[in-house]
Amino acid sequence: MKIAIHGLRAVAALAGLALLLFAGSLRAQAGDVVVLVADNAWDGVANAPLGPTEVLVQDGNIAAIGSSVERPAGAREVRLPKGYFLMPGFIDSHVHLTIRPQYEGAVFNLSSAYKAILGVQALDTLLSYGFTTVRDLGDMDIHGYTTSDLSRAVAQGVIPGPDVIPAGHIISARGGHGDATALLGADSDATQNSLADGVDEIRKVVREEINHGAKWIKFGGTGGFSTPSDDPSQVPYSQEEMNVLVETAADLGVPVTPHAYGDEGISRAVKAGARSIEHGSLASAATLQEMERKGVYIVPTQMEVVRHARLVEDDSLWAAERKPPYVRAKYRKYADGILKSRKALADSKVKIVFGTDIGTFSYATNNAGEFKEMVTNGIAPLRALQAATSTAAEMLQLNDRGQLAVGKRADIVAMPGNPFDDITVTEKVDFVMKQGHVYKSPAN
Ligand SMILES: [Zn+2]
Repeated sequence: MKIAIHGLRAVAALAGLALLLFAGSLRAQAGDVVVLVADNAWDGVANAPLGPTEVLVQDGNIAAIGSSVERPAGAREVRLPKGYFLMPGFIDSHVHLTIRPQYEGAVFNLSSAYKAILGVQALDTLLSYGFTTVRDLGDMDIHGYTTSDLSRAVAQGVIPGPDVIPAGHIISARGGHGDATALLGADSDATQNSLADGVDEIRKVVREEINHGAKWIKFGGTGGFSTPSDDPSQVPYSQEEMNVLVETAADLGVPVTPHAYGDEGISRAVKAGARSIEHGSLASAATLQEMERKGVYIVPTQMEVVRHARLVEDDSLWAAERKPPYVRAKYRKYADGILKSRKALADSKVKIVFGTDIGTFSYATNNAGEFKEMVTNGIAPLRALQAATSTAAEMLQLNDRGQLAVGKRADIVAMPGNPFDDITVTEKVDFVMKQGHVYKSPAN
């Protein structure tokens, strides 16, 4: 952990310098009063855009919003270029800050300091794409608790970035989706402290993760596509083990979300009381109905999972991504099931939350591409946009964000067009404000 903190300090100095050069005089000072003026806006909730909108930002919060707002003495007007569209800052509820695809298994042998550096870079990129809050669902630092450090560093203003909600390490059964033992190599002296079998080990590990700063508990509820030795339909934990995992976290006020592809794993986690399901890509219509009834959220990560099922026979995609052959074989096996389930999800009323799994794919890919993928898969633009704003804030129990409304945090992005007309404009965010500070602004 010490190493991670030293690493962070060194990188923070560089990141701070980059930020100054980047945002220059546009960065609002504490106490600044700003009026944003744009041709169009959406508040994170309403069925349709609001039309021409002004937002008064004071002390990092939204003090007024309407077609025109009062300008207090000293207020500075920031007029967005013609055709620009304002909406709440995006929330990605499934990221991995401490991994990159090029490391694959080797990531577990990188030092804590290097993983902190990867995290600092990831946060800078995510903020530039318009993400003002992220939930990290799997710290790859098995030696320490780097994502908790990253969360703290952003909160204390040491580094720029979206707020980080850390979920610690992926709790996994031995041989399950989060077990890195096979990837560590025989000569590694690293031990993985988030492996747990049986109710006693599960209780201990859940408590340890929360003690080290986890605000959510993530566990491997089924096997996966990206790992060599397990299958997406396998269920490593019994109902009793999942029940104890959720109860132990609930006693400490912490919600739980499993990585779960296959229907049986999803169904068990829903029975156990999970607040959300990650991926959920092979959920049956009956399980989706049960989730709807119990108010369980789904984070479908379609840009990663459904896209690979849709394009499983597209050789150029697989050649470009250079994934191991077993990954494509598993997608071939499950493509029909994934495509059937995506239709059931689009037809359902399950609360969908935006999440991407970025980190398992390159940070050079704008994760706002998830909006387009959701719309491609039959999810209405309104539902997709709510998934990354008001619905995400509701799932994360962050009542201070996800909407443009009086009293909410001034986490605001702008893009050169209306995402209800063209969802891909969400990949062109070039104004980013977080808590009233402007981090990115179009040259105007
Ligand atoms: Zn993930």
